[in-house]
Amino acid sequence: MSGAASPGPVERWFGDRFGGRPEGVWRAPGRANLIGEHTDYNQGWVLPFALDLGVTVAAARCGDGMLAIRSRQAPGAPASLPLAALAPGAVTGWAAYPAGVAWALREAGHPLAGGASLAVDSDLPQGAGLSSSAALECGAALALDGLHGLDLPRPQLATLAQHAENDFVGVPSGIMDQSASLLGRAGHALLLDCRSGETSDVPLDPAAAGLELIIIDTGARHALGDGRYAERRSECERAAALLGVSSLREVSSPAAAAGLADPVLRRRARHVITENRRVEETVALLTGADLAGVGPVLCASHASLRDDFEVSWPQADVAVGAAMGAGALGARMMGGGFGGSVLALAPAGRRAVSAAITAEFARRGWTPPASIQAVPSAGALRIG
Ligand code: ADP
Ligand code: MG
Repeated sequence: MSGAASPGPVERWFGDRFGGRPEGVWRAPGRANLIGEHTDYNQGWVLPFALDLGVTVAAARCGDGMLAIRSRQAPGAPASLPLAALAPGAVTGWAAYPAGVAWALREAGHPLAGGASLAVDSDLPQGAGLSSSAALECGAALALDGLHGLDLPRPQLATLAQHAENDFVGVPSGIMDQSASLLGRAGHALLLDCRSGETSDVPLDPAAAGLELIIIDTGARHALGDGRYAERRSECERAAALLGVSSLREVSSPAAAAGLADPVLRRRARHVITENRRVEETVALLTGADLAGVGPVLCASHASLRDDFEVSWPQADVAVGAAMGAGALGARMMGGGFGGSVLALAPAGRRAVSAAITAEFARRGWTPPASIQAVPSAGALRIG
């Protein structure tokens, strides 16, 4: 908690924009996904962890029925919206994420009487596959929950934030990002069963193992709206229907995919089935305190995403190759694909991996990639 006498930067910024002091400050982290890619909408397992980078929201009730939102990362006109008029389609651009959360709360029977002013700041790159969108939603959700004394359980806030992203913003994402941001625990990953919604903590402490997890933002940007994500989802649904199951999660043997006549559907199903097994394998290794053993599993995940699911992109393949050539224990593309970041597991303190990737990008005339250390951190919390 910051002391009442010494406002932090976001509190001062709140004062500059709205006048007065915020009633509280909340912070929600972004996330990385250790393993379990394109398994969420197939009702399978994912294993994300919260980062120490995130979105900070300074907020106060304002009494006029308006939702006023400003972001330091989105300079220009403030978004000021009558809460009562919030409806899907009414707000576009970045403000739709926090406005969607207020809408989802209202739909769930929490009208947020009086409204609120939210000042947003962030140290999380946007569109890099680190889920700045969920961090923004979860920061807003926790702030509105705290301001209005709702005290809703975290899993319910995660569901409301997902509802905002799916039905107000219009992005068909799963529950993983919001769960990691709201339920993450320092030194742990979050195992999430996307069929039951059950979660459990799995120890993930790279520093204790003399290792580090590095996120390399390849600079290439994905666009979920470009149709390829939706195409993969429908391919998985078709494969499941042909195999006579409600989702690919229900198939445990990779050999079952061989029963699909269409080679594309066979490859898609094989990725999902084997990726679920890799999540299981990773959990067993982490539970046995063998983080180094996870390295080859990350590489197998990358190969499957590249060859069977066909969602990798040139910069990711080059980054993974360069990381492995420089002594990484494992590396893979992270996120939905076609852009974003790569996750590498490497011995701690050696800059060789990032340096090798930068050199390889330079050789090809590509923009130098940004690297950050990914430290499994606590989920969203009130910080002021
Ligand atoms: P990712 O979640 O991987 O970062 P998305 O495309 O899902 O990528 O979400 C990025 C979008 O979230 C941005 O285009 C912007 O609309 C919104 N966003 C994230 N962080 C902020 C912020 N600090 N201020 C304003 N908008 C933000
Ligand atoms: Mg996102």
